[in-house]
Amino acid sequence: MNDFRSDLRSDLLINLRQLLELDRGLGLEWIGKGGLSTASPQVEPLVSMAPAPVPTAPPHAPAPVEAPRAIELLPDTDLTTIASEIARCTACTLCATRSATVPGDGHATAEVMFIGEAPGVEDENHGQPFVGTDGDLLTRMIEAMGLSRSAVFITNMVKCRPPGKRPAATGEALACLGFLQRQIAAIKPKVICTLGNLPLRTLLADESLGLTKVRGQRLDYRGIPLIPTFHPDYLLRNPTAKKPCWDDLKAVLAVLGRTPPHKSGG
Ligand code: URA
Ligand code: SF4
Repeated sequence: MNDFRSDLRSDLLINLRQLLELDRGLGLEWIGKGGLSTASPQVEPLVSMAPAPVPTAPPHAPAPVEAPRAIELLPDTDLTTIASEIARCTACTLCATRSATVPGDGHATAEVMFIGEAPGVEDENHGQPFVGTDGDLLTRMIEAMGLSRSAVFITNMVKCRPPGKRPAATGEALACLGFLQRQIAAIKPKVICTLGNLPLRTLLADESLGLTKVRGQRLDYRGIPLIPTFHPDYLLRNPTAKKPCWDDLKAVLAVLGRTPPHKSGG
């Protein structure tokens, strides 16, 4: 932590607010690797709380998908049953290219649920979400909050990997939505944290929603507070967004009546 602080202080591009946060020892280690370096000159203006820019279009245009067939909404069941239904699901074309499904991972009655976009190659290989580089960052974010991956539940909007590293399409997210809704109903989290725009828009059934518009707000999904924040992949490409993201993670903790653990000497 001391080395990390020295690095930050020597960086003239750091804004005053970030330094104050560090001095309060608020557990910002996860910001460290690759974050706020001199190689990333685009930092927020001093004391600005404006969200970092969010790409309006995905880097790759989503491939056209067939109109999804609606998932039959079964009565709420346990996570294992939902996972076995996901494994058999053919409701969208992703079933044709997947080698495994990635239903989600974590505590069956977690207080916090993190919802990403779609599994990548490594996630598919392990059958678990957020296993790759994005996952390393997400793990550090969760640990900075004083939580662990096993205490929360991590899943994705879409349970099968889109081929060719393309983003999941809206139709695929809609086709998969029933599974996520049932997972939320089974877990009954106290707070939901969406990572990126796809789960935010799909879960709240509003295509016009975007992080630029709603970041920093506490939204509502069927009576459960929903805090939208950046996707870890976006954070890796835009390190200055890590600070507002940390504010979002603290807002998640605030729903639970908690604050991040104090870092002594750090
Ligand atoms: N891995 C996941 O499981 N989800 C994402 O959104 C990205 C990587
Ligand atoms: Fe079914 Fe979802 Fe996989 Fe599409 S992504 S096949 S809806 S489980």
